[in-house]
Amino acid sequence: MVRRSWRIVFLNVLAGLAVLAQGAGSAHSAEDRPPNFVIVFADDLGYGDLGCYGAKNIVTPNLDRMAREGNRLTSFYVAQAVCGASRAALLTGCYPNRIGMLGAPGPQARHGIHPDEMTLAEVLQQRGYATAMYGKWHMGHQHEFLPLQHGFDDYFGLPYSNDMWPNHPTNGRDYPPLPLIAGNDVIELNPDQTQLTTWYAERAVNFIEANRDTPFFLYVAHAMPHVPLFVSENFQGKSKQGRYGDVIQEIDWSVGQILDALQRTGLDENTLVLFTSDNGPWLSYGNHAGSAGPLREGKGTAWEGGVRVPCIVRWPGHVRAGSESAEVAATIDLLPTFAHLAGEPLLTGEPLPERKIDGANAWPVLSGQPDARSPHEAYYYYWGNELQAVRSGRWKLHFPHDYRSLTGPAGQDGRPGGYTNQRCGLELYDLESDVGERNNVAAQNPEVVQRLQNLANAMREELGDSRTSQKGQGVRPPGSI
Ligand code: MG
Repeated sequence: MVRRSWRIVFLNVLAGLAVLAQGAGSAHSAEDRPPNFVIVFADDLGYGDLGCYGAKNIVTPNLDRMAREGNRLTSFYVAQAVCGASRAALLTGCYPNRIGMLGAPGPQARHGIHPDEMTLAEVLQQRGYATAMYGKWHMGHQHEFLPLQHGFDDYFGLPYSNDMWPNHPTNGRDYPPLPLIAGNDVIELNPDQTQLTTWYAERAVNFIEANRDTPFFLYVAHAMPHVPLFVSENFQGKSKQGRYGDVIQEIDWSVGQILDALQRTGLDENTLVLFTSDNGPWLSYGNHAGSAGPLREGKGTAWEGGVRVPCIVRWPGHVRAGSESAEVAATIDLLPTFAHLAGEPLLTGEPLPERKIDGANAWPVLSGQPDARSPHEAYYYYWGNELQAVRSGRWKLHFPHDYRSLTGPAGQDGRPGGYTNQRCGLELYDLESDVGERNNVAAQNPEVVQRLQNLANAMREELGDSRTSQKGQGVRPPGSI
């Protein structure tokens, strides 16, 4: 109840500010207009899958150009290495376990994003932004959880993963036909997935053109390169890495469409564009999976290959061109950072105890300022409700936990291979000298281990830990029906 009443106050204050802003002269002039925001979110794209992150057989000229003209981050994190939880973190600024949004909810799920949670889209919509989302939602597929009820003016896409359909290679019987949704309505079942990337790109371009005079927030969450991989005829056979490479090259094309539209509408210098991925590569899919480059493991693990993803930020005149940042920043920082850039006073500075979030304003890091420091003393790697690791600066401490690893034959052409269960102990890695997490240096650095243990203990009080059977004081429930 306390949170609900707080939210109403929050919305009222925002509405008041919006009225004041409009009273000052409705359409924003070029100078005082807050920036537009575009987030392009790939699905299961690995750290090593773009040209500007070292890919050899995949050509990504548009994303490489974004990196040349913007900032390339090398320690950018998602909150958990799985689609649904990762998306919830991006849109709420919270570790997903804080808001009860774990895993990858499928068609049987009865829960979704809680109506009291404030999404990035709601924050910006309340400031007068036009908002749209095209692509994979994955925060609950029932009416009350869909994007239009959580801050978006327009929506078109899949409510959950594109493999949750009867054609799933191993679990097809578990899934009803895959719905394609426009607004709040299912408009098609089992849509032609070869067209998804094109459809999302076309809608993104139309939205930009229709909103050239209004600040906007555009969230494009591609279904690809999550399996099953589909690509339009235009990109079939175009890469040197088979179907997977073709799919990435089509996503790169879609980013080019967005950049072209911004230039055409004269909005290049008003618009921050950020490209990233929801988690690392799904390695069991073999030639239909991406690459984590130098990082260990992939999707579904707390190793760097699961949660460290490419992130490119471009905003001409505001983000330093050609910069590179190795400081820790994360998708949970996007809500507070964008709120700060949009002039939202209530989300700058201290988090509010009634509606605590975990992200922080990371603008100095995202914009490539030379001496920028991470806003996080520590970053936490949860899997579900289990705290599996913590990073502070160069050090990462794993707590003893099980993880999946590909030890047998990998998958082939859309059929998955098998994972086996592995276990790690209390292990310390120096990510600056050992990004691949190969040399456990816990024994040589007992004081570092102790410091990271202390940070973890503080977080266990707040968000809990299923491994130590602790309940967190700061955990909120998801919405449910
Ligand atoms: Mg994913």
